[in-house]
Amino acid sequence: MKRDYYEVLGVSKVATPDQIKAAYRKLALQYHPDRNKSPGTEEKFKEISEAYAVLSDNTKRSLYDQYGHEGLQGRYSQEDVFRTTNFDEIFGDMGFDGGFDGIFESFFGNFGESRRSRYRQKDYAQQGKDLTYELELTLEEIALGTTKEIEIPRTEACEECKGSGAMRGSVPKTCPECRGTGQAQNMSTSGFSTIIRLITCKKCKGSGRMIENPCKGCNGNGAVERIRTIRVDIPAGIEDGSSLRLRGQGDLGDSGESGDLYLVCRELPHNFFIREENNLQCQVSVGIVDAALGSRIAVPTIDRQTLTVKVPPGTQNGTILGLKGMGIKFPNGSRRGDQLVTIKVNVPTRLTAKQVEILRQFKELEKKC
Ligand SMILES: [Zn+2]
Ligand SMILES: [Zn+2]
Repeated sequence: MKRDYYEVLGVSKVATPDQIKAAYRKLALQYHPDRNKSPGTEEKFKEISEAYAVLSDNTKRSLYDQYGHEGLQGRYSQEDVFRTTNFDEIFGDMGFDGGFDGIFESFFGNFGESRRSRYRQKDYAQQGKDLTYELELTLEEIALGTTKEIEIPRTEACEECKGSGAMRGSVPKTCPECRGTGQAQNMSTSGFSTIIRLITCKKCKGSGRMIENPCKGCNGNGAVERIRTIRVDIPAGIEDGSSLRLRGQGDLGDSGESGDLYLVCRELPHNFFIREENNLQCQVSVGIVDAALGSRIAVPTIDRQTLTVKVPPGTQNGTILGLKGMGIKFPNGSRRGDQLVTIKVNVPTRLTAKQVEILRQFKELEKKC
């Protein structure tokens, strides 16, 4: 049994279009399958979407008001109910990109199919396919920036046929079946209306072209799998998890254009330094005598140097000595963060008889002070 559309959206029979839209948006946020994974959510989402599709359209709404569900049944197929509704506008506002197609295609079979193939054509024809790879970086590489050579397996245009898929000297022909559109129409009637369904052309599999003499380099695909070495400049100070976009370095699309390559940067743990934004923290041990009398210690830096650092007399355990400008370079600048050296005062665990003797004398002297 179908529920009343007004009841489904929780609005009154005299609700304004804005009220209906607002009610739907609120429910869609709650039941959008991207957000809500509990069982039955998809059904619920379909129900509210159908109610919105009918009530947001003047003609359908008045038919429904007069005749109820029956008023729509003979007149519109389920696909037709949804077809004229601009869901993309609503979902776009809500921050679900392309959400509509992904969800609705599972609800409506062929209807979804035609929308999906339309989208796929758009994606491929305009951009090709984006690739994402993880790139591991050491803290040394991040600190000052670096250039990396990476090997990326990707789809490229076949060099032999320049991506056409046709043997040298021949050109692909326009598919006679679909006249190059890559689509065919499938018509059927339902009640008073004719439903035109767009399906992928079977003869050319949607490419719109026919190749009579396929290129031997790519078997007529026009594309080949290659491992390509790419040099990438890694800017200094990059954050763990941030990505670099390399335009046109992704997979080749049907149109002959390539998508983008995204490199997601991963910061490897370091055995001496801990990163704190653009500062580098480390720990260096000194003995009790050096801490008391003061000394000079050797401290490694991220640029693989060793700095001599002065430990002042009377330095306490946990004292932090700052080395200005020895940290990680800020992006788009020459300035660097600092290196923060935490001093750990080591108390000796084994003493010689002589050392014990001296320390006892030291204690005696302390009493007299
Ligand atoms: Zn080829
Ligand atoms: Zn065709």
